[in-house]
Order: sequence, then structure tokens, then C-alpha cells
Amino acid sequence: MILSFVGVCMLQSYYLETLLDLREDNFNSGVKRSLFLAARQLEDRGEIGALHDLITGELLRNGINTPFYFTIVDHNGDQLLTSLDDNDFMLEGDDYYTQPLFENDSHESPFSLRVYFPEKRRVVWKMVSSMAVTTMVTTLLLLCTYITTIVLMVRQRKLAQSKTDFMNNMTHELKTPISTISLASQMLEDGAVSKTPEMLKSVSRVIRDETKRLSFQVEKVLQISLLENEKAALKFKDVDIHELIKGVVDSFNIKVKSKGGRIETDLQAGEPLATVDELHFTNIIFNLMDNAVKYSKEEIPPVLKIKTWNEGGNLLISVADNGIGIKKEHLKHIFDKFHRVPTGNVHNVKGFGLGLAYVKQMVVKHNGHIRVESEWGKGTEFIIDIPTLKKQAYE
Ligand code: ADP
Repeated sequence: MILSFVGVCMLQSYYLETLLDLREDNFNSGVKRSLFLAARQLEDRGEIGALHDLITGELLRNGINTPFYFTIVDHNGDQLLTSLDDNDFMLEGDDYYTQPLFENDSHESPFSLRVYFPEKRRVVWKMVSSMAVTTMVTTLLLLCTYITTIVLMVRQRKLAQSKTDFMNNMTHELKTPISTISLASQMLEDGAVSKTPEMLKSVSRVIRDETKRLSFQVEKVLQISLLENEKAALKFKDVDIHELIKGVVDSFNIKVKSKGGRIETDLQAGEPLATVDELHFTNIIFNLMDNAVKYSKEEIPPVLKIKTWNEGGNLLISVADNGIGIKKEHLKHIFDKFHRVPTGNVHNVKGFGLGLAYVKQMVVKHNGHIRVESEWGKGTEFIIDIPTLKKQAYE
């Protein structure tokens, strides 16, 4: 692509140059013809005073209408007559036309006429300028098309890669609980394994936990279809967000405590009521807390801080953790669909890269905003901002 573009540019500049040369040749031959004819007429008439008009007339006949200076010099190059008041004609360089005057039979002439066109460059350029502008505009358009195509291609490739990663992750995530459950059922079937009440209890606990995990994964996959379906209807109702948060915190307490950590809540908002879809808003808080636990440091117990407050009629909810944090270069992409921060060897958490894309889309559907602040190695804070019930009532 780049090669062909460079080729097109080179071809165009070559054409322009050729065109410029052609125009210049055209101008030169027109001038030479005019000067030759004007010289002949001067010789016939012998009126040196009419020289200016003679040259102008001949030039016009050849389609050249641009100011000129002329001078007559003898064979030593001494100036005899000039159309200029001062002598700077000689200083204007040597880009002038020479026409011998009063040639004798042996083609020797005592005098010559020199004519200089101060605006020659401009005139020649004017002829090709429209062509040059068109060429430049088409080249620019071509360049834009190339760039857009390349950007689209790269984006498409990234998306295709993310989708493949997603499929691999999903298969892994769904297969693990399925194989654990099937192993447990094999144990129950196996006559050689003694069925003590403890053993039955532990096997049924494994089955319950894994089923829960499986249904959680399926729920996550279902969120994709919600993401795809822009018009998914939300069932809005007035909800006390503090109650909703407390519910999610309860279900996370065991998980966090099992890792030796804790959840600190600081629900300060005096106006915690908002119109939300209860299920989806619960999912939002759930996903943020789930990530906070998932991306905690292995050696440090997770500490989650959930805070709410009111600001300008809005309800703000902050979910902060002391986890691994997110590097700056990844921050702006974490809300993209299928985007996962390359984890390297730091930890090995499987996910689909959909959680935050879902969170963001849902927050926007609640007329809210979400932003993230994070420091690599220190922790991450997500802040959601939605209108309260009171603010909505005013509007
Ligand atoms: P995933 O299924 O990978 O968790 P998400 O959309 O929920 O997908 O998150 C996208 C990425 O953002 C994750 O892969 C993770 O690297 C990063 N991330 C999200 N939340 C946190 C957090 N609390 N701390 C550190 N990294 C996070």
C-alpha cells in the first residue's frame, strides 16, 4: 500500500514537472516568435520609438499578456536604449530573451534586443496551478482513504484476536466446573468409594460450589447478548442504593474474609435514592467488587472500600481496592469490549474482558458516568456518578 502510494506521488510529481516544462517551452517559443516578428517590423519601419508597441502587439497575438522590460545592446554588450528608468535590467539575471537586430547577409548583427519578463515564473505556474491543486487534493484524499483503511484493518484484526481469546477463555472457564462436577458424580457412582456422611457432604458441597460458578459464568456470557442488544429494556424503579450495596457486600464478605481481607463501607450519601434497574445495577456493583477481589495482590489480604456521597444532586459511588492496579497505558482501554490487560506472570486470573464494558454501558444507560483512577502496584478506584431521585424530579 505504502509502495503504491509513493509510486502514485512520484508519478504525479513527474507529470506536473513535465507539464511545467511543456508550458515553459510553449511560453519560450511564443516569445521567440513574437520577438523575431517585432524585429523584422522594426527593420522595415526603422522607428525605434515604436518598438514597445510592436513587441506588445506580437506578444498579444501569441497569447502572452504580461509586463516586460527590454533593452538594446551593441555587440560589446553596452546598453543603448532601455525601457527602464534605471539600469537594473542588467541585474535581473540572465533569464532574458535575445533577438539580433539589423542582421546583415553574413548573419552578423551589430545590435541585439534583450527582453526580460519579471513575472514569467508566475505566468507559467498559473497555467499549471489548477492542475497542481487538483493533483494535491486527490493525493490527499487518497492518503486519507489509505489511512482509514489501515486503521479499520488494524481495529478489525484486534477485535478478531479478542474474540478468539474470548472463545478460548470461555471454553476454559466453562470446562473446569463441568469436569469437576463430572468427577464428583463419578465418585458417587463408584462402588469402591465408601459413602460416609462426611464424604457425601463434601462431594455435594463441591457440586454446589461448582454449579454456582458455572451459573455465574453463564450469567457473564449472557451479559454479552445484552451488550450487543442496544435496546435491551431496563426495568427502572426507585431503589435505595445503600440497601442494594449492603446486599452485594454481604455476598462478598465470605469470599474476602476467606482471603484474610475485609470490606469497609462508608455510606455517607444523605440522598441514596435513585431510579435504577435493580438487577443491572446490582450487577454493576457486583462486577466492580468481583474485579477488586479478582485483581488483588496474592501476598496482601484484599481491603475493599465502598463509599457513597452526594455531589451536585448526584449520587457518587466509589469502589476502591488495594490490588495490583492498572498501568496508565491500559487504563483508557479497560472499558473496551473483550479488552483484558495482559497479565504476564503476575497472576493468572481468567476472565472474558466483558465485565467493565458491561458496567460502562449500563452506567451510561442510567444517565451516569464512570471513571477510574489507578496506580500500578497500589490499587484501583472506580467512581460511578448517577442522578439521584431528587435531581430527576427537578428535571
Ligand atoms: P475481566 O473478565 O478480564 O475481568 P473486565 O472487563 O472486568 O474483564 O476487566 C478488564 C480488565 O481490567 C481486566 O482484565 C483487568 O486487567 C483490569 N481490571 C479491572 N478491574 C481491576 C481492578 N480492580 N484492579 C486491577 N485491574 C483491574
